Amino acid sequence: MKNTTEEIQALIHRKALFIVNHSGGKDSQAMFIKVRALVPRAQIHVIHAHLSGVEWEGVIEHIFETCEGFSTQVVKANKTLFEMARHRQKWPSPKYRQCTSDLKRGPIEKAIRHELKKRGLFLVVNCMGLRAEESSNRAKKEVFKYNLRNSKAGREWYDWLPIHDYVVDRVFSTIEDVGETPHWAYEAGMTRLSCCFCIMASKRDLRTAAMLYPELYAEYVALEKEIGHTLMMPSKGIALGLESITGIQCSA
Ligand code: SF4
Repeated sequence: MKNTTEEIQALIHRKALFIVNHSGGKDSQAMFIKVRALVPRAQIHVIHAHLSGVEWEGVIEHIFETCEGFSTQVVKANKTLFEMARHRQKWPSPKYRQCTSDLKRGPIEKAIRHELKKRGLFLVVNCMGLRAEESSNRAKKEVFKYNLRNSKAGREWYDWLPIHDYVVDRVFSTIEDVGETPHWAYEAGMTRLSCCFCIMASKRDLRTAAMLYPELYAEYVALEKEIGHTLMMPSKGIALGLESITGIQCSA
């Protein structure tokens, strides 16, 4: 039985297309650095699923800048996070992350199918920047696996987590070692990127984002009140709104 390195080498040799799922965050950036060191440029395609209106400024520019010279694409879902929350009258939850499945995974998988068709290919490796250190759930993920659900219509589809074993210091040093910098939000105090206000964010990150983006923060607070549901899951049975968590009140 082959190990992951041998599996990846065999797939490179078979001319598989490697898709890099890029959020603009540090993990995606480090993953891309690893993938581009292994896989020929012509076999790499970068995809960013953009969540309009709720992401950090400059994310798209950061991706294009750090992936310069590589085939890169931005996709968008046909609904926004706010529309989704309004329609469902509740926010997504960490357990059922409809934000990820509907606004990111769905559009990315559709784009992958199109890209394969466009290139006349049937072999794909979908690379994601999840790391074991992030949570016990992520630690249990398989680093490399055949994706049965997406292996249809003649397609052979694999999922790969190239930096699953990286700790956070290694992520930053990987970026630094090639002379790049992470997105500016890390320097501004954030520990994670993607949506400015994530359903899984820490109190510290929520506070930092609220201070950096007061208007967007006010929109989240207003929607919490409108639908009567808090963005963050209850803690010890108590549901707290963003204002209580961050200690930052909205004037409106
Ligand atoms: S960053 Fe958070 S809120 Fe945004 S899509 Fe991902 S899980 Fe959902």
